[in-house]
Amino acid sequence: MNFYCMTLFPEMIDNAFSTSITGRAMNNGYLNLHTVNIRDFANNTHNSVDDYPFGGGAGMLMQAEPIYRCYEHIIEEIGKETRVILTTPVGKVFNQAMAAEFAQEENLIFLCGHYEGIDERVIEKIVTDRVSIGDYVLTGGELPALVMMDSISRLVPCVLSNSVSSTYESHSNGLLEYPQYTRPREWNGMEVPEVLLSGHHKNIAAWQKEESLKRTKKYRPDLYKKWEEEQNKED
Ligand code: SAM
Repeated sequence: MNFYCMTLFPEMIDNAFSTSITGRAMNNGYLNLHTVNIRDFANNTHNSVDDYPFGGGAGMLMQAEPIYRCYEHIIEEIGKETRVILTTPVGKVFNQAMAAEFAQEENLIFLCGHYEGIDERVIEKIVTDRVSIGDYVLTGGELPALVMMDSISRLVPCVLSNSVSSTYESHSNGLLEYPQYTRPREWNGMEVPEVLLSGHHKNIAAWQKEESLKRTKKYRPDLYKKWEEEQNKED
């Protein structure tokens, strides 16, 4: 999987992504990250890439031309049409199903906005997917791109040392994960549930399923309702 990021702050993405599991996956050749600085494609002496919005309004907007040139540079490198994900609060909210869909791609380009956003014309020209990471506003698209790349990466074969961990976890089947425990068996007067020490796989699986349902109902009633509706459809 090759990630390309168009950004004004490449170091922010490079530093975070080269840490921990994604960093190891890059070292092992399962992931590649190419951050490209949009400022390198400015066509003026001051390397400026933003300007005032027509019609007024607060703040500055990123201009279309440097972003378009940056995009053309990346497409030339990849050699074929590629999905371009715009990080934006004006987008479909990212979820695990979208992560799984994006993980099927060989190449993905992220466009990170800054200031008050981006001239709409270049968005219309190059963007295939407008994606938000939630209903709040951040200063830039670098953290959203990192959030998405991180969750997509976990679904790329060989990135996680144990691929089972991404199959049976929260949101993979519409439910939240059951509680988990590690050593010691007793901590601060609190015991690990007896069934987990029993070695009885069927009982353990039944307990985990029940806890998963209980938790989803408690913490995410919206997900629980959806899950129940799906079950009723199947019956
Ligand atoms: N004026 C824009 C609006 O009201 O929709 C917000 C611009 S925001 C200050 C600057 C950049 O941060 C955006 O262009 C986008 O790339 C990124 N951003 C902010 N919040 C985001 C979110 N919830 N999801 C994804 N990207 C976000």
